[in-house]
Amino acid sequence: MTASPQPVDAFDLVIFGGTGDLAVRKLLPALYHRYVDGQIPDVSRIVGIAREATDDEGYRATIRKALQNNGGQPGKIDDFLRLVHYRSLDARKDDGWDAFAALIGEQPDHVRVFYLSTSPELFVDICKRLGGYGLNKGKARVVLEKPIGRDLASANQINDAVGQVFDESQTFRIDHYLGKETVQNLLALRFGNVLFEPLWNASHIDHVQITVAETLGVGQRAGYYDHAGALRDMVQNHMLQLLCMVAMEPPSSLAPDAVRDEKLKVLRSLQPIDESNAAQLTVRGQYRAGAAEGQAVPGYLDELKDHKSNTETFTALKVEIANWRWAGVPFYLRTGKRLPERVSEIVVVFKQVPHSIFAASAGQLAQNRLVLRLQPGENIKLWVTIKDPGPGGLRLRHVSLDMSFAEAFGVQQPDAYERLLLDVVRGNPTLFMRRDEVEAAWQWADPILGAWANSGEAPRPYGAGTWGPTAAVALIERDGRTWNEDSE
Ligand code: NAP
Repeated sequence: MTASPQPVDAFDLVIFGGTGDLAVRKLLPALYHRYVDGQIPDVSRIVGIAREATDDEGYRATIRKALQNNGGQPGKIDDFLRLVHYRSLDARKDDGWDAFAALIGEQPDHVRVFYLSTSPELFVDICKRLGGYGLNKGKARVVLEKPIGRDLASANQINDAVGQVFDESQTFRIDHYLGKETVQNLLALRFGNVLFEPLWNASHIDHVQITVAETLGVGQRAGYYDHAGALRDMVQNHMLQLLCMVAMEPPSSLAPDAVRDEKLKVLRSLQPIDESNAAQLTVRGQYRAGAAEGQAVPGYLDELKDHKSNTETFTALKVEIANWRWAGVPFYLRTGKRLPERVSEIVVVFKQVPHSIFAASAGQLAQNRLVLRLQPGENIKLWVTIKDPGPGGLRLRHVSLDMSFAEAFGVQQPDAYERLLLDVVRGNPTLFMRRDEVEAAWQWADPILGAWANSGEAPRPYGAGTWGPTAAVALIERDGRTWNEDSE
């Protein structure tokens, strides 16, 4: 039996960028599912904000369609939409803000959440106006979507400006990877069992791989993406956060700062990668025309309609953590667009047994692997060696112990945003990035970006539908290891 989720306090949640892709495709459906589960009190309000000239009914029609496409039930959708409102506002202009502030002021006891689901260039304008109207007072919180800057200096500018209106305890920097069930489960697995922690170090772990692969190209986001690239878009935030969850020391509790202090220590222990070693430890790629899901697809430069871009759509890195637990254990990271599969996973590869007692005819001894799949189909598998069942002598076989949660517990996986949005309402920032974490991540990433820019080298081409440039395979194979390829 799973316990019923507890309702949260009544809230007003304002989504700046309420008509955007993230809000319509992710945030509103996440809120709908929590509403249907009885966690959102009926007196709560969800207010979409954008410049588009529509009204409550027009906005509800858009959201209704999104929820219907998402498997929502008609009666429940109607009930949920009563909570949903819309105000047309330009974050950069004064018109309409008086009326908006009056609307929010109607419910002074509600928790107030301002979710900035817009381009980060608007964060400062929005926060200044919220502060100007006193909307930052009381139980007010602000949620910042990625990207928080494109380097340390620009991240500091955003954090300074937001920090003048909202203090750190009110600021929730979201990284939806941290809300994923598998990442929560990594905590449960590591710290809820005695089995893994004694092995969780350089004596027993050979290496760790983190892959975030997408089959999509840049499509409509080409303008944004060309100014970012794979390192800024994926590695500096999501992948480093996953690395931290694997590598951190046991926190003394799940209190927000206990966990975030441990993650920060990992970020500060990352071995620098700069001009002296970037050529050995990093690979950059850019996709050319090829195939995706059986269809011919254009290359990045054709999608961008600019034939000069040096932006990487793929990167692979060998990262080391300079501390006692992890010295000598490489963390191989790779991410890219237009790869053959959409998959995000962490693979912890344990060392070989020190000595084999089995005859060569018994077959190969494979290393134990713990595979944490974040998408698609969240699950955790532990690969172990067993005897092939039945007669015929002792033959070894590598099998996975499957902990596919949905099957095991018969529950639907909640989307990461469902958990994270309610954590904001509860005021629990454990799964959100503290300012110093963002800074430490940029401090590590900036020299890599600098080394790439100064090298003047173009990213290596790879065909759409392949696993990136061959140099990414060489990066791991020169260490006598291979990328995980079990897609089961
Ligand atoms: P989007 O589809 O381009 O939506 C942008 C939203 O901002 C629209 O509602 C737009 O509506 C509104 N907007 C733009 N200028 C405005 C202004 N001056 N005043 C008020 N509203 C304004 O972008 P998105 O994909 O939803 O992404 C939003 C943010 O989340 C971005 O920073 C993105 O990097 C981040 N993010 C997105 C995803 C995703 O899956 N989409 C995932 C992670 C992070 P109007 O034009 O009508 O004003």
